[in-house]
Amino acid sequence: MTAPLPAGSTIGIVGGGQLGRMLAMAAARLGYRTVVLEPQAGCPAAQVASRQIVAAYDDAAALDELAGACAVVTYEFENVPVAAAERLAGTVPVLPPPRALEVAQDRLAEKTALNAMGIATAQFVAVDGDADLAAGLAAFGGDGVLKTRRLGYDGKGQRVFRAASAADAGGAFAAMGSVPLILESLVPFEREISVIAARGRDGRVAAYDPAENVHRNGILHTSTVPAAAMPATLAAARAAAAAILDGLGYVGVIGVEFFALADGSVLVNEIAPRVHNSGHWTEAACVVSQFEQHIRAVAGLPLGDPARHGDCVMENLIGDDILRAPALLAEPGLMLHLYGKEEARPGRKMGHFTRLKARGGAA
Ligand code: AMP
Repeated sequence: MTAPLPAGSTIGIVGGGQLGRMLAMAAARLGYRTVVLEPQAGCPAAQVASRQIVAAYDDAAALDELAGACAVVTYEFENVPVAAAERLAGTVPVLPPPRALEVAQDRLAEKTALNAMGIATAQFVAVDGDADLAAGLAAFGGDGVLKTRRLGYDGKGQRVFRAASAADAGGAFAAMGSVPLILESLVPFEREISVIAARGRDGRVAAYDPAENVHRNGILHTSTVPAAAMPATLAAARAAAAAILDGLGYVGVIGVEFFALADGSVLVNEIAPRVHNSGHWTEAACVVSQFEQHIRAVAGLPLGDPARHGDCVMENLIGDDILRAPALLAEPGLMLHLYGKEEARPGRKMGHFTRLKARGGAA
């Protein structure tokens, strides 16, 4: 696939959550149709897409139907089964490449691949039993974060050990479900930042300004731009994101989360091979949002200008926070985005808003 996708073409999206919804809306604005593969009928993405295939992500017939209906297929979450992505890739371009999924789905593979690219991460050891954990904690001075290698998100499947609190690590492997784990050194970070960056089919990279992220109960609460980090920190984060994109031969938008340390250096916490919650502010503060940027990349269009036209703060609306919507709508300089989810369960991302803090500032 070399020529840009003509308007009217169909883009497949595996996954039907809010990220798929925002991708489908951006695709529509560029004249494309979208087909969403998602088991939950009437999901947020299907409400705005041209069509939904209601089936499991690994349903062979549904995957073949999706491949047959689309000129290119992308995805909105990192736990798309790699075998499904590869099956699709047998008949239709799949972007970002399935290799990015493989790397991002396993924290051990991810850190190993990043280190091989010369990208710094926390120290880590694989934990397949309590003996590995004890050895790892000893190596890291008693402090560490124990995580499931796969299927962890928003801080789920994690346990922190601190030498000072002398927590008993015995039985931790079983308590975490006797699944493959990773122990990371506990990073004394000053702040958490992320870079949303895109790589086009021509290898060109465009990065948005890094955002500073604050989490609550393990879920992203706010993303503030610009991040209050040193210029050297921001430059290091941008450079690392670009190196990761090149290293993976990537096409599309990636989210790279960093720990920023007091000495100005950064460590990558994790990568998300998709559009990212900490990039939602780009909808309100950039001419080309991360969603349009991703569609441009996978469609082979030129990447857009990632420049920012103002300072802003994005805040997630979790569960009952959605009740704030009417008051938020009354605020000038505020962009509200709701995801069309019927039930506001605790911990569920229902929407977000971006408050512009200044106007007319140069990026
Ligand atoms: P994760 O699911 O890996 O993004 O981790 C969720 C949150 O836990 C991060 O945003 C950090 O605030 C914290 N965290 C994760 N790993 C570490 C680490 N190795 N050192 C210190 N804090 C961490």
